[in-house]
Amino acid sequence: MTKDFERAFAFPSGGVLRRRAETGTLNQAYILPLPADHNLFTALAASALCSAPDRRPCGICPHCRKVISGSHPDFRRFAPEKDKRIFPVSLARDLREEAWILPNEAERKVFLLEAADTMNGAAQNALLKILEEPPAGTLFLLQCENPGRFLETIRSRCTVVQTEAEAASSGQEEAASEYLDLVLGNSPAELARFLQKTEKLPRPELAAFLGEAKRQAVSRLPRASRSDALRLHKTQALLARAERFFDANVSGGHIAGLLLSGGAEMRNQID
Ligand SMILES: [Zn+2]
Repeated sequence: MTKDFERAFAFPSGGVLRRRAETGTLNQAYILPLPADHNLFTALAASALCSAPDRRPCGICPHCRKVISGSHPDFRRFAPEKDKRIFPVSLARDLREEAWILPNEAERKVFLLEAADTMNGAAQNALLKILEEPPAGTLFLLQCENPGRFLETIRSRCTVVQTEAEAASSGQEEAASEYLDLVLGNSPAELARFLQKTEKLPRPELAAFLGEAKRQAVSRLPRASRSDALRLHKTQALLARAERFFDANVSGGHIAGLLLSGGAEMRNQID
């Protein structure tokens, strides 16, 4: 697999998607909240059309090469016209007709639907008809901004792939909540132990932890006592500083150190 494909599959659901892509067991349709030019679309299309016996996409067979150069006749992009913000029902109908025409060179077709979440109800229903009875082996990639805009009937026929940020932050909600409990609690030793774990987090998780803790600090404010509110304000500022450190590529150990010394300083000031 080439470097670009390696990077494309570094997506959080990449583990599952990659295994399925490599072994030719991709599902029929995916909803992907990603920019339309993301490498993952090319990687998935190449996997589906690649002629290698396993470890697809190989990146070197004629199918892979054509997908990469954007010239594979069986990898079809359907997108709203430029400056039009809606994926029109006529285009969804064209897609339906085309899906039933046999592939040109590969064993199947791959359809990439750009801005698919801008379809109105009629367009989504036209798409639904094809998703309900698709030609065997066809792969549909629904590129979108917001998977919540699809009808439930569409979503239930697709695999919704989580976004990078969602996947990273979903694991950090509890950690952020525990951190704030410790900041407001009375055990500096426990806070120190907690932050020792934090410094070992991989960087995407650390970024998600900082962002999530900052968000939760703000959301706790309305219900906080005066002294807690003061701590939450200071903690929020501390987390913002930690985020700036993070952006400057400072190590996890130093960031945890900042949170620890900032916490102790705050305790001395407020208590
Ligand atoms: Zn190939």
